[in-house]
Amino acid sequence: MKKRFFFLATLFSVSLALLAQSSGFKELDEWAKQTKEEQKTFFGYPANEQSPLQGFYEWYVSSGMCEVNMNNAGDPMTDHPNSMSSQRFEREVIEFFAPLYDFKKDNVWGIVTHSGTDGNNHGIYFGAKYLYNTTGLKPIVYVSDEAHYSNLRLCDLQNLDVRIVKSDDMGRMIPEELENVLDPSRPALMIYAMGSTFKGAIDDQEALNAVLDKYPQMKVYRHIDAALFGGYLPFTKYRDMVSCKKMRYQSIAISGHKFFGIDSPSGLFLCTRETYDNQNNFNVTYLNGNMRMINCSRDAVQPIKFWWLIKTIGRDNWSKQATQMLDCADYLKAQLDKMNYPCWKNTYSNTVFFRRPSPEIVKHFNLAHGYDERFGGELAHIVVMQHVTKEKIDLFIEALKK
Ligand SMILES: *Cc1c(COP(=O)(O)O)cnc(C)c1O
Repeated sequence: MKKRFFFLATLFSVSLALLAQSSGFKELDEWAKQTKEEQKTFFGYPANEQSPLQGFYEWYVSSGMCEVNMNNAGDPMTDHPNSMSSQRFEREVIEFFAPLYDFKKDNVWGIVTHSGTDGNNHGIYFGAKYLYNTTGLKPIVYVSDEAHYSNLRLCDLQNLDVRIVKSDDMGRMIPEELENVLDPSRPALMIYAMGSTFKGAIDDQEALNAVLDKYPQMKVYRHIDAALFGGYLPFTKYRDMVSCKKMRYQSIAISGHKFFGIDSPSGLFLCTRETYDNQNNFNVTYLNGNMRMINCSRDAVQPIKFWWLIKTIGRDNWSKQATQMLDCADYLKAQLDKMNYPCWKNTYSNTVFFRRPSPEIVKHFNLAHGYDERFGGELAHIVVMQHVTKEKIDLFIEALKK
């Protein structure tokens, strides 16, 4: 009798599990199946495909919070969080991350953004306003030709004067080229690429800062575009590269869906208080708030996801993941070297770029395209995220050998 009960109970829960996998919509189920298949060989773009939020979603549904419409419009860094918002958790998230980039707790302002691009938009907007409001002069933006395209797009959007600075073979802004195009009669808004899109280069901030230091009368603002690398570098021996104290930057943008594996676009934006205090005021009576950030409505769920990750994954695991990613990137490079397959990688980077393989391989592994005559023309890259393990790299190498 008992046995029979267990059998039935098991049957029941198995069929429940099977049911749970079906949405009741054939096209949705087919799409989900195909996407989960593609996920296994998603190598070319910087998304951590081991999204660690299952527990969050279980809580979100079982607590009934999935039926609450919240909104984080306004400043999360005040002592009076808005009701129907998750601003107090958003503030905790900013205060958790601030010291990882060497921001002091009493000298930081920040928000959870909609994306890395949203963070860059704030960095460029805040930088330009800071420079204008403290000097009365319109700044010039300097950014390398290998930086993420969002920076140029945003400067275009904000109608800023831009000088594009040439980068070296490995993708870093060339200090001499910066000096050649520098106009010291106007303030400089530097955008440093921390992880150039294709080659995974980090601009040599110390060398570039040395060029800027030659013009002490020129006011400088530095924004770091660290969408991908800003996630893992604080957990590695390269952490000085993201220290605002050592590198003297004022703001930084980081994506939440890249290293941290949040399952939809999100990010972090952090800046110094001085930056925030020198922005244009927008006192909005209707909201009873000072709206210095660009967006009105802001997501209230993403901050909770960040907070959840801090509590359930946290520093130690992120350190392990960062080490594993860099080890696997070295492993991929070593395997390609063994085959004498032309490939390159910056030391602190999880991105390996190489001669572009056959279209079949490019398609199967979702590899991103690049082109550079200096490396023989057509290139592709793999961004070694948490799900790109040694076993999976072996599969790629085998495919390449065939
Ligand atoms: C991914 C990336 C971006 C864009 O970030 P989103 O979060 O996708 O908007 C910007 N800059 C760099 C360096 C990136 O790697």
